Amino acid sequence: MYIDMTLVVEKYGGTSVGTLKRIRSIADRIAVARTNGDQLVIVVSAMAGETDRLTDLANGILSQSSNDSKNIQYRDDESTKDNFRELDVLLATGEQVTISLLVLALQSLRIDAKSYTGGQIPIRTDSVHGKARILEIDPANVHSDLAEGRVVVIAGFQGVDDRGNITTLGRGGSDTTAVAMAAALNADECRIYTDVDGVYTADPRIVPTARRLEQITVEEMLELSSLGAKVLQTRAVEFAGKYQVPLRVLSSFEVGSGTLITNKVGNMEQPLIAGIAYNGDEAKLTIRGIPDQPGVASRIFGPISEAHINIDMIIQNVGLDDSTDLTFTVKRDEYAEARSILVEIAKELGAKDVVGDDTLAKVSIVGVGMRSHAGIASTMFDVLAKEGINIEMISTSEIKISVGIADQYLELAVRALHAAFGLDLVPSEDPLEPAAV
Ligand code: ADP
Ligand code: ASP
Ligand code: MG
Repeated sequence: MYIDMTLVVEKYGGTSVGTLKRIRSIADRIAVARTNGDQLVIVVSAMAGETDRLTDLANGILSQSSNDSKNIQYRDDESTKDNFRELDVLLATGEQVTISLLVLALQSLRIDAKSYTGGQIPIRTDSVHGKARILEIDPANVHSDLAEGRVVVIAGFQGVDDRGNITTLGRGGSDTTAVAMAAALNADECRIYTDVDGVYTADPRIVPTARRLEQITVEEMLELSSLGAKVLQTRAVEFAGKYQVPLRVLSSFEVGSGTLITNKVGNMEQPLIAGIAYNGDEAKLTIRGIPDQPGVASRIFGPISEAHINIDMIIQNVGLDDSTDLTFTVKRDEYAEARSILVEIAKELGAKDVVGDDTLAKVSIVGVGMRSHAGIASTMFDVLAKEGINIEMISTSEIKISVGIADQYLELAVRALHAAFGLDLVPSEDPLEPAAV
C-alpha cells in the first residue's frame, strides 16, 4: 500500500536551541509532530552566542601568538588562508554540539533519531572557507533513515569540500542548509523556526509598530535579506526560489502561521512597499581630484577587487577642470584595508587626497509595487528631509531604493519611513473601550 507521507524540513536557530530547556522543548515539539506521521528532518544552529564565542577564541589565540591583534576575517588572501581552514574546523563544532544534544533529548523520549554533521551527509561545497557555497547534496543516507522511521538531525552552517576539508557557509548559514536539504529531499515544506513569528515589514526590534507579513515574494525577500534583514540568509532565499521550495518563517516559541515566502503571487496583494531593511555597518571613501578620463575607475577598483573587498554604492561627480571626485561604500570591517589601498592609488594617480567616513548606514525600501508606481523615491527623500537627515549616497533597482546616511540616524530613518509608507501596525480597537466621539 502506498502511504503519502509529508516530508518536512524544520530549522531551529540559535535562540531556539539556546539552553538545555529549549532543546528539550524542541524535542517535545518533534514528538508531537511525529504523531501526525510526518517525516522530519531537523536542521539546527549552534546554541545562542556560541559562534561568536568560538570566533573570539580564535581571535584570542591569534592575538596572543603574534603582535598583530587584527581580528581574524575570512578573505581569499594567501597569507591567512590556512587560518580560515582552521577557523571553519572550530566554528563547525558549535552546530555539532546541538545535534547531539537534540538527538539525546529525542532518544530520552524514545524517539529513534540520528545526527549528522554536514560532512557526514555529505553536503558538498566549494572550498571558500567562511562563505562556502553548496554544490551538491547526496540525500541517500537521509532517505534511508527516514524510511526506517528515524528523525534525522543535521548540523546547519557546514559542509565538506572535495578534499575533505570542513567548510562553513557564512553567518546565518543554517537557513541555507535547511532550504538546500529541503530541495535535495524534495520536501513538502521547509520551516524556519526562529525568535520572531515571521517576516515583518521591518526588524521588529527597532520598529515596534512593524507588522508580520502573511506572505512575501521570493524576489522581495531576496532584496530584504541581502540589504540586511538577517531573518533569512540571502542564499537560503535564492535556493527557495531556484528549486521552488515552499518556505515558511515561524516562531519556535508560539503557535502561528508565520510568513510564507512564495513565487506564486497569483491572488496575493501587491503592496507598494513590502518592507524596510537596514545595515548599520557601512563605510564610505572618497578619492578627490582624480583625472576625469577613461581608465581611471578601473585603476581604482581593480586593486580593491583584487583584495576581495566588495564595493556597494558608487558616485562619481561631474568633472570640473578635467578633474573629478569618486566616492564608494564598503563594509565597515573592510574600511581600513580599502582606505590604505586607495591612498596608494591616490599617490599613483596624483589625486588631491582621500577622505573617508566609517559611520555610514544604509536604509532600503523594498517592494515589487515600485515597478508600477512613480514618485516613491521622492517620497522617501521628503521623509528623510523632514527628519533633518542628510542623504549621502543613493542607489536604486527596479524594486528597491537604498540611501546611505549617518549611522546615528538609522533608527529614526527606518521608523519615519515605516510610518510614511503606511506600514505601521494599526492598533486594534479595544471592544471594551467606548468609541471616541
Ligand atoms: P536565528 O538565530 O533563529 O537564525 P536570527 O537572529 O538569525 O535568528 O534572525 C532573526 C532576527 O532577525 C529577529 O530576531 C529580528 O531581530 C531580525 N530581523 C531583521 N529584520 C527582520 C524582519 N524584517 N522580520 C523579522 N525579523 C527580522
Ligand atoms: N551558527 C551560525 C551563526 O551564528 C549559523 C546559523 O546560526 O545560522 O551564524
Ligand atoms: Mg539566523
